[in-house]
Amino acid sequence: MATHFKIDGLRAAIDGKEILKGLSLEIKGGEVHAIMGPNGTGKSTLASSLMGHPKYEVTDGEVVLNGEDVLEMAVDERARAGLFLAMQYPSEISGVTNSDFLRSAINARREEGKEISLIKFIRQMEGKMKELEMNPEFAHRYLNEGFSGGEKKRNEILQMMMLDPSIVILDEIDSGLDIDALKIVANGVNAMRSEDRGFLIITHYQRLLDYIKPDFVHVMMQGRIVKSGGPELAERLESEGYDWVKEELGIVDETVGQV
Ligand code: ADP
Ligand code: MG
Repeated sequence: MATHFKIDGLRAAIDGKEILKGLSLEIKGGEVHAIMGPNGTGKSTLASSLMGHPKYEVTDGEVVLNGEDVLEMAVDERARAGLFLAMQYPSEISGVTNSDFLRSAINARREEGKEISLIKFIRQMEGKMKELEMNPEFAHRYLNEGFSGGEKKRNEILQMMMLDPSIVILDEIDSGLDIDALKIVANGVNAMRSEDRGFLIITHYQRLLDYIKPDFVHVMMQGRIVKSGGPELAERLESEGYDWVKEELGIVDETVGQV
């Protein structure tokens, strides 16, 4: 089935404070959407709410992936349904090696008795790590423990490549990356572009979009999408910043307000 992801009127709150205020977005297989916005406008809240982070309470709206109600699903069911999130601040898990974590994550998406063989898994992981220019020893390190910012980001992309999701959400995958690492990560993402996969790329800076060309660009302010366009919108934001958007829309404070 062709990938189809639809967010409609999504509202979400943290500790009773509403952060997402009616956000709608539709992503089809083959499309790359970028969400850009200043800090504090709710971008990471969107990513976490879509994945089902327990801290974020969805109060209204719909999220549908290939005809299935995502909001009804537990986090692991969302992953099984094909949603993937590369987090802005990936968690460290001591005592679980990177390769154990990856293999469990892959097998969790498969039926019992159809687990990936160890040999096949290792071959795949080594191949992908090479593409990402990761030191092979990272396979045996505890998940993200002591990884630098850039190493964590590469590791998120490694997970994406191994899990083969149908909707990929990247939350500020560019933060903490120098230009060489950024190119490697972008190459990894571009290699995963396909007709049956959609991308939602959340970024503060336009720079990432020089390497991953989006089809659609959305500006997020005050917990919703306030403006959409093509790649030219990202270029204008790069050269002129966000003030003209605020002026055009009569927005004084673009954040969702202080908590
Ligand atoms: P962005 O990713 O666009 O910078 P966030 O979604 O991280 O924005 O944050 C939006 C608002 O929600 C901010 O005011 C932030 O303080 C608040 N917020 C986000 N996550 C939490 C949390 N876990 N607990 C309390 N407040 C939060
Ligand atoms: Mg954020």
